[in-house]
Amino acid sequence: MARTMARFSRTETPHTDWCTRDHRCGVTLHQAPDIIADGPLGGRAVITRVRAADVDYAEIRIRVPLSRTEDTARRQLGLALHLCRELLAAVAAIRPAALHGRAADRPALGRRAA
Ligand SMILES: [Zn+2]
Repeated sequence: MARTMARFSRTETPHTDWCTRDHRCGVTLHQAPDIIADGPLGGRAVITRVRAADVDYAEIRIRVPLSRTEDTARRQLGLALHLCRELLAAVAAIRPAALHGRAADRPALGRRAA
C-alpha cells in the first residue's frame, strides 16, 4: 500500500490553463495567482485555486480582526465559524451531484476515463 501511494504521488500532472506555471507549481500541484479581497479594519481574504493530483479546490486564507473585548471576540469567532459553514454549503450547492456523492458525475473522474 505504501509503495503504491509513493508511486502515485510522483506521477507528474500537466500545467493547467489557469495555473501560474512558475515556482508555485510542483510535480503534482498547480496553483493559480492569489485573488485578494480586503475588508475593514485590516481584514483580508486570499483565495487560491489549486489542483492537487486530479482534484481542484479553492484554498482560502482569511484574516479576521477580532475585538479586544473577550466576549465580543468570542461572538466574532462564532459568527466567522457559522459563515464558513454557510460558505462551504453554498459553494457545494452549485454542484448538486457532489452533495449526493455520485462519483461518476465528478468532472475529474470523467476526464480520467476519457
Ligand atoms: Zn502548473
